[in-house]
Amino acid sequence: MEALIIGGGIGGLTAGLFLHQQGIGVRIFEAVPQIRELGVGINSLPHALRELDRLGLLGEVVAAGIPTQELAYFNKHGQLIWAEPRGLKAGYNWPQVSINRGRLQGVLLKAAQERIGADRIKAGHRFVSCEERGTKIVATFDNGDTAEGDILIGADGIHSAVRKLFYPNQTPHYSGTCMWRSTSIGKPFRTGATMAVIGHHMQKFTTYPITPADSDGNAVINWLARIPVPELPGPEDWNAMGKLDDIVKHYESWTFDWLDVPALMKRAKDVYVYPMIDRDPVPQWTFGRATLLGDAAHPMYPIGSNGGSQAILDASALGAALGANAADPLKGLAAYEGVRRPATDGVVQANRGFGPEVVMEWAEQRAPQGFKRIEDVIAPDELEQVATRYRQTAGFDKERLNASA
Ligand SMILES: Cc1cc2nc3c(=O)[nH]c(=O)nc-3n(C[C@H](O)[C@H](O)[C@H](O)COP(=O)(O)OP(=O)(O)OC[C@H]3O[C@@H](n4cnc5c(N)ncnc54)[C@H](O)[C@@H]3O)c2cc1C
Repeated sequence: MEALIIGGGIGGLTAGLFLHQQGIGVRIFEAVPQIRELGVGINSLPHALRELDRLGLLGEVVAAGIPTQELAYFNKHGQLIWAEPRGLKAGYNWPQVSINRGRLQGVLLKAAQERIGADRIKAGHRFVSCEERGTKIVATFDNGDTAEGDILIGADGIHSAVRKLFYPNQTPHYSGTCMWRSTSIGKPFRTGATMAVIGHHMQKFTTYPITPADSDGNAVINWLARIPVPELPGPEDWNAMGKLDDIVKHYESWTFDWLDVPALMKRAKDVYVYPMIDRDPVPQWTFGRATLLGDAAHPMYPIGSNGGSQAILDASALGAALGANAADPLKGLAAYEGVRRPATDGVVQANRGFGPEVVMEWAEQRAPQGFKRIEDVIAPDELEQVATRYRQTAGFDKERLNASA
């Protein structure tokens, strides 16, 4: 079996590695002329790390980032609403990892080049169209090249050209908020590897270190500031540059005893701006010999550390389904979609409804001026229930995950 994978991002590269592990021939086609390590921080959940462990990449990925120890939600006054241990600290068999997105892509690319072969990963190939010819599928690229395989995997991100062939009229769903994203050098807070989510959905700040602290106690701290922007500003491009002045003014009063938000923001160099967009779940991913994976299949709001993690889970599921149906790739594609589409539909929907961050909304609605004791505002069992329900929806319930090892 020969698979054509469109897109050399986290989903496409991981899919390439899993298919190769199953003995399937793989070629990966990436639009950009050279795959470079782009992006700021990203977080991978324990179930995604389990899959990377199956590829033998756990050590390298952990070494390129930092194991997250804690997730903590705060109100806009910097008061703690809820904190829970994460990854190994929470008793998972695999860590949760905070990492530069480009570094993660770099680890995957190096492994793909070594295992699949550098000549089978083609940059400068922007997918344009595909057509089935008998038992084969032929892809055409903007440089005039064509490639023939048995199946085609669209892993080409939120603006997927493969998805557009099947859903030509679907536009992104804009949340009405934009995210300014960057990294700054700073002192890690709380455990030294805490992911902090502060504020509420109308004004939010998410921050976590993506490297260990150096000998001076400084680490690279990822941050993401989100505010309402009524009109979709465009372009919806992960590499679009933003202006620090446009965003930092909204956070000037966010100086807490454990974190000085405006000071952290002002130490950033490059700032990127990206609208918070997703797309409605679709009723079908697989059309003949072509299917979708990662953001191409289920673009979701970046809440709960799920964007990259769900793409990695797709890749593993696709490898297993095709491996189990080596004689009949169409059956393999159907089995993959049967497992992954319902699972990810649930996460897209959960993230539209605040996901686990609903506790921040309750704190803002019930105590906008802050609180003396969080128990007076939200009952402890209410907090616990929210966290447990979301872990189940996103597929990283600890007992089930550890038992599946
Ligand atoms: C440059 C970039 C920076 C990002 N930075 C962050 C970040 O800082 N934080 C974060 O949480 N998420 C970031 N993301 C998104 C995050 O990587 C994804 O949400 C998640 O990892 C799912 O991965 P994916 O492989 O499905 O999609 P992506 O990571 O978006 O990868 C899709 C790949 O397909 C390629 N592609 C697109 N169109 C075509 C085409 N027609 N033909 C061939 N190839 C094509 C793209 O160049 C890209 O390499 C970024 C994505 C990109 C592309």
